[in-house]
Amino acid sequence: MSKIEDISTGKNYMAINAGSMDTWKEYSMIHPKNGKTVSGKVFLKEATRATGTEISLDVIPPKADLSYFHIHRKNEETYIILKGHGYFQIDDDCFPVEEGSIIRVAPDGKRNIRNISDTDMIYICIQSKENSLEEYSTDDGERVVHSAKWDL
Ligand code: ZN
Repeated sequence: MSKIEDISTGKNYMAINAGSMDTWKEYSMIHPKNGKTVSGKVFLKEATRATGTEISLDVIPPKADLSYFHIHRKNEETYIILKGHGYFQIDDDCFPVEEGSIIRVAPDGKRNIRNISDTDMIYICIQSKENSLEEYSTDDGERVVHSAKWDL
């Protein structure tokens, strides 16, 4: 069984290890809305103590889909396909996706994903509040002088 392990924690961070990608299918959770067991999915907000995003690691078995369409109330989602290929459907639009595909879906988009490959499809999904980003890319960053501990 895959298990999230703490690597290190401090005043300004939380570092965890979710295990190698090939073990993510061993995660399971009880879905809070329908009480059913969901396999191949783990949410990271609690483990990372995130305050602006919810990230999940997800695995869809070969020749399967999520078995439901869903929308969100406030959050947009960005799906990053790491392995496998198949189809992504949003509303009535359906298109092929594969390793390297990145799909942002607005809250209202009715979404589902299907794996048509013979191997697991592995992806990361990032939820964040739609229109919450103010400064981004390099605008929000600021270089500071600090010494690297790995050089000591
Ligand atoms: Zn979602």
